[in-house]
Amino acid sequence: MARFYDYVEELLEFLFVRLDDDGFATLVAHEPRRMLAPYIETGRGRCEQRSAAFVGCVSCSEIISGGYGDYQSINVEAWPCRPVRELAVLYADAAEYNEGWRPEYAGFVSGRLVFEVS
Ligand SMILES: [Zn+2]
Repeated sequence: MARFYDYVEELLEFLFVRLDDDGFATLVAHEPRRMLAPYIETGRGRCEQRSAAFVGCVSCSEIISGGYGDYQSINVEAWPCRPVRELAVLYADAAEYNEGWRPEYAGFVSGRLVFEVS
C-alpha cells in the first residue's frame, strides 16, 4: 500500500486487526485515496485555479465537475469519512482508540464538520 499520512495509517492499522469480514468489506468500499479538488482562489487582483490535495474515498468524496468557487465551499467529505468512523467507534473501548475518530467529527476538506453540532 502506498505511504499515507500518519493519521491514515494509524486508523487503518487499528481497523485491520479488529474488523470482521463485513467490516472489512465496508472499509474496502471506503478505502483512503489521494484526491484533488479544484477551486478558484481570488484576491490581490488575482483569480487562479488551484487544487486542494486531500485524502478521501471514492464513495463519499465525489468532486463536482468544474470544481469549486473557493476553498471554503469544497463540501467534499475527507477521510476518515463517516462510514469508516462508524466502523471504528465499535471498538471505542480499545486503549488505542482516538476520540478524534468519533462519527460526529466527520469533516469536509475545508475543515468544517459534515454535521454541524448545534
Ligand atoms: Zn467513505
